Amino acid sequence: MKLSQIGEFGLIEEFKNILQTKDKNVVIGIGDDTAVIKGYRKNHYLLFTEDALVQNIHFNLKNISWLQIGKKALSVNISDIAAMGGIPKFALISIGLPQKISVSQCKNLYQGIKKTADKYKVSILGGDTVSAKELFISISLLGEVERKNLVTRNKAKEGDILLVSGSLGGTILKKHYSFSPQVDLSRYLVKHFKLSSMIDLSDGLASDAVKIAQKSQVGLILFGDDVPLSSDAKKLAKKTSKAPLCHALFDGEDYELLFTVPPRSVTKLIQQVKEKLKILITPVGKIVNKKEGYQLYSNHKYTKLHPKGFDHFLSNT
Ligand code: ADP
Ligand code: MG
Repeated sequence: MKLSQIGEFGLIEEFKNILQTKDKNVVIGIGDDTAVIKGYRKNHYLLFTEDALVQNIHFNLKNISWLQIGKKALSVNISDIAAMGGIPKFALISIGLPQKISVSQCKNLYQGIKKTADKYKVSILGGDTVSAKELFISISLLGEVERKNLVTRNKAKEGDILLVSGSLGGTILKKHYSFSPQVDLSRYLVKHFKLSSMIDLSDGLASDAVKIAQKSQVGLILFGDDVPLSSDAKKLAKKTSKAPLCHALFDGEDYELLFTVPPRSVTKLIQQVKEKLKILITPVGKIVNKKEGYQLYSNHKYTKLHPKGFDHFLSNT
């Protein structure tokens, strides 16, 4: 079977079957934004994640500086720790370098990594350096979270409201290399509210919302008319002739937080986050019974929600 038939997530399921572990300290292995491990510090979990960036897949050297690549490589990992309610701590970095890259370019890349590391108090403790046909950077990041504050993808309940931070879409224009992972927001949320699930938006609102629903074994209605559209979603829509909402639903790389709470917390949560952190939180959907499936409600009409988002092996639209 070809990779294009199974897709990225089908392939990961195959890996998961091969990689089963019996270690009692593994709380979550494959299947969430990070792995979750117990037994390392009282009342805490260790979080463990890895994300890679590859030249001409995640970035094009024509449109992004070396400093920005460095910042992005660490930021995408930090975003996954934030998605679990945690704090990033320690990282290892592997880089693959084509011969033609200069020493000063490599150093700029590391200046970018260091800037983001300092901002989020992450210590870089080592890594590996190899030659490669195209530039790649892969970062493994450890973080921690108090046990009571851990938020996973799999506990959204029927009736819960789906909330998103910031505004979405059009990230290819700028945000994909300039975003700040939402650690402060995540920490504020887990300390003050009981979230039932959370994910960071890397593959697109539609795709990532469906991941929460699938893991939680529930259905989902997205309120299309309420999705906060970024100015870049609108700008890009003029060029692509798609609706701005399409960009907000399917573009990916927003690195905002998508999470669920019971309806009674919604008003207070939105108000307090606005006051304390000056961050916009918007209700964008509702968790429903599994038998209702995944739907998009827009313009007074329900349509089937296609969770198409970024997949490394399927044709992305
Ligand atoms: P995210 O978008 O949040 O970074 P991914 O979609 O990359 O998450 O990964 C989903 C899950 O699959 C994670 O638990 C991740 O650790 C796991 N995973 C991805 N690729 C591999 C791989 N090559 N081997 C083992 N596990 C993997
Ligand atoms: Mg993630």
